[in-house]
This record gives sequence, C-alpha cells and structure tokens, in this order.
Amino acid sequence: MRVAKDRVVAIDYTIRDVSGEIVDTTSGRRPFVYLHGYEQIVPGVEAALTGMPAGAALDLSVGPREAYGVRDPKAVLVLPRKAFPLGQEPEVGDLYRANKADGKPVVFTVLDVAPETVVVDANHPLAGQTLQVHVEIVSVRSATAEECRHEHVHADAVVSTSQLA
Ligand code: ZN
Repeated sequence: MRVAKDRVVAIDYTIRDVSGEIVDTTSGRRPFVYLHGYEQIVPGVEAALTGMPAGAALDLSVGPREAYGVRDPKAVLVLPRKAFPLGQEPEVGDLYRANKADGKPVVFTVLDVAPETVVVDANHPLAGQTLQVHVEIVSVRSATAEECRHEHVHADAVVSTSQLA
C-alpha cells in the first residue's frame, strides 16, 4: 500500500541540521505513526512521502519554508524580569513554555538576562534551517472512519492484517 491522504503511516527517521548533527531521530525508539494529509509532519516531508510504497527510503534536503519556517526577527522579545515566575532564575539557553494570546502554545529560548529584562526568542529552534532528513516507510494502512473523523491515529484501532502490507 502506498502513502496517501487518510492512511496511517509509520516511519523511522533521522533529521540532521546543516552541520550534520542529529536533531531528532526515531533510532532506538518505536517508529513515528501519523495520519497522512493533515500536516502532522513538516510539509516538505509529507509531500515527498505521498505516493511512496511501504519499505521505501528517502533522503531529503528540506528548506526552512518546507520545514519549521523562516526565522521571524519580531519573535525576539524583551520581557520584564518580573514576567518570570518568582524564584526562577532564567539563564541563557533555558527553554520556557507559555501560551500566546490566542491560546496556542509557544516555546521560547532565553537569549540574554539583565537585572530588569530578559531577551527571549520565540522562533522554533529549527526555524530558518535547512534539514537533511532520512526517512523510511515502515508500514501503511487505511485509517478507520473514526480516525479520519478525529484527524488522528488511534493506537488501538482494529485493522485487518491484509491492510498492513
Ligand atoms: Zn480520536
């Protein structure tokens, strides 16, 4: 079976940054399982996997616009020191999780700490980077009607084994 919208795809992958350092990998873990066609993986990888059969392996160079986006200079913010929880000493390189005004989660990195202010970067840590992605398609099956309705994979979905090839 080939990768297409409304199919559940299991992949093994290794992502390297421009310097060749591994930034994420399923090596030593279970394959990553997702519902294809719902932007649950970065767009450049989802597009490349479309139409590929189970067992295929791909090596991709994925530019920032097809990965985690370009860096937004406006996402570097100067916050008052008192915006941080009492008793917490932010340090350069620390990651904090917060909610934006629209309720969406955002992770930001501390760039600089001064007595009254803290400079943070709300860009995704991989924003602006071209990534080298090695991906192997472990299995492809049809999603159940319920999975398509929910737009996510159910770990306990009952599927006939003939769909797993
Ligand atoms: Zn569900």
